[in-house]
Amino acid sequence: MNNQPNILVSSLKFRCSKCGKGHLFVEPNPYNYKKMADMYDNCSECGATFKSNEPGFYWGSMYVSYAITVGLVLFNLIWIHFFFGWDMWALILPNVILIVLLAPINFRLSRSLWLALNMRYLNKTQ
Ligand SMILES: [Zn+2]
Repeated sequence: MNNQPNILVSSLKFRCSKCGKGHLFVEPNPYNYKKMADMYDNCSECGATFKSNEPGFYWGSMYVSYAITVGLVLFNLIWIHFFFGWDMWALILPNVILIVLLAPINFRLSRSLWLALNMRYLNKTQ
C-alpha cells in the first residue's frame, strides 16, 4: 500500500519526494556554480511539479538552510569542545571552513527539503 518514499531519504538524494526516482537538479555536481540552482520543472518519472506559481517560492528554503547550518554548528561546537575545550579559534575556524565548503550541498539540500515539505501543496490537483 505504502509505496511513497521516505521524504528525508529522497531529499538527501536530491530526488523527487513523491516518487523518489526523478532528479530535482539538472546538473548532478552541486559544485558547478553556474548551474547549481538549475532545477527541472517536473519530475521525469511521476510528473510532479517542482515549481510554484508563487513568486519566490524557494526563498522559503532559507529557513531550512538556516536550521541545517545551526544544527551543523551546534554539533561541531559540542565535539570540538569535547576534544579541544573552549579555544575560540578552534571553535570558529572549522565551522567557517565547513560552512563555506558545504554551502552548495546545503543550498541544494534545503531546496530539496523545502520542496518535499510543500510537495503536497504544489501537486494538490494531481
Ligand atoms: Zn517523481
